[in-house]
Amino acid sequence: MSFDTSTLYLFATMVAGMLGAMLMYFGRQENIPALKWWGTAYLLGAASVALCTVGGAALGASILLALNAVGFAACGLVWNASRVFHGRKPNVPGLMLGPVAWIGAVAILQDTAMRLTFGAAIVAIYAALTAAELWNERRRAMQKRWPAIVVPVVHGCVLMLPILVGDLLRAHDENFATSFWVTLFSVELVLYAIGTVFVIFMMVSDRAVAVHKTAASIDPLSGMLNRRGFTEACMRVIEREANAGRPVTVMIFDIDHFKSINDRFGHPAGDEVLKLFSTVVVSNLRISDLSGRIGGEEFAALLPCSLEEGVLVAERVREAFESSGIVCEEGAVDTTVSIGVAGGPAGTELEVLLASADTALYQAKRSGRNRVEAAEELPLSLENWRRKTAGLPAAARHKPATVH
Ligand code: GH3
Ligand code: MG
Ligand code: MG
Repeated sequence: MSFDTSTLYLFATMVAGMLGAMLMYFGRQENIPALKWWGTAYLLGAASVALCTVGGAALGASILLALNAVGFAACGLVWNASRVFHGRKPNVPGLMLGPVAWIGAVAILQDTAMRLTFGAAIVAIYAALTAAELWNERRRAMQKRWPAIVVPVVHGCVLMLPILVGDLLRAHDENFATSFWVTLFSVELVLYAIGTVFVIFMMVSDRAVAVHKTAASIDPLSGMLNRRGFTEACMRVIEREANAGRPVTVMIFDIDHFKSINDRFGHPAGDEVLKLFSTVVVSNLRISDLSGRIGGEEFAALLPCSLEEGVLVAERVREAFESSGIVCEEGAVDTTVSIGVAGGPAGTELEVLLASADTALYQAKRSGRNRVEAAEELPLSLENWRRKTAGLPAAARHKPATVH
């Protein structure tokens, strides 16, 4: 099978040009700066290779040199696009270095093969820098990141191959070596252009999913996890602690007479009290503890510790909230909270713990509010607890569950 080199290069540049236009379009549409950098790189790279292929020697040495320099700048832009994608600043000196080095090399090196080798090395270095940029971010999602690293590495390796084995081949048959590498380069160029765009879109969609997932599990008022986010995070912690054979403790906080705070001071003041409470909770928990806003003025926390330790933490939160009382023009705002705490041995289900903490919370409310109540006993299982409480009226259902 024989390939016409110019046709191959033109085909490669057309593909790269179309992909560049597509990247620019999505970059503008979704306002993702990195996509615009990638799009520019593709368009410039495609334009430079296409003009060189079509114009050939007729363009004159200086124009060809300038076009080549643009091609190397395009490789530098690809590297900078991955920097921008990860929130880093573009490295402009690094971007200029490739084209400048190429112009310098052309002035110094007279041998075409040596120039080609030098050019391939510049592209390979940019490919390695791109791979390194993506490698640094690998911890975000390692399984999904491997194509992002493999594609530029393979690209760099293909470009470096003639440097490693070129002398060997050239020694045997100059024509074979040249045509073989030219064909390989153009085929690789098409695959690289398509492969990279595939990787780019994969990373962009990965990030979009992560952003939406975060938004879906965060409560915008307090910035804490919402019920869904809290539950998901708890499942992971409970599993981890169960594997380690350690107990977990859950607490539910319910601000006292919150409705009257709203009624007396207005809804915005109520919102401020909610924010204040979330700050109190977060600042009194450890970094390894989980907390979230699970309802209007109800919050919850999960601590990898025993019930006794949990009660101490709850007491700390209660005191801190009480003493953080705020004063409005209309008067002092009572900031007290009732807390129900439940602890269980390794592997206790979240639902069981929450149900038990809820029962204890009700007990705290009934005993006068502004207090911490610990669940006396855990329901043996949620099923058991449901069966036990199914026939009881609502008020009686909130008595602490005791299983004999
Ligand atoms: P208790 O001491 O028994 O807990 O009484 P409470 O008034 O705190 O409880 P209740 O459940 O009667 O009232 C909760 C109130 O919380 C009612 C609702 O209007 C208010 N609320 C729920 N979500 C928000 C919110 O996001 N912002 C504000 N400002 N108020 C909210
Ligand atoms: Mg409530
Ligand atoms: Mg309340």
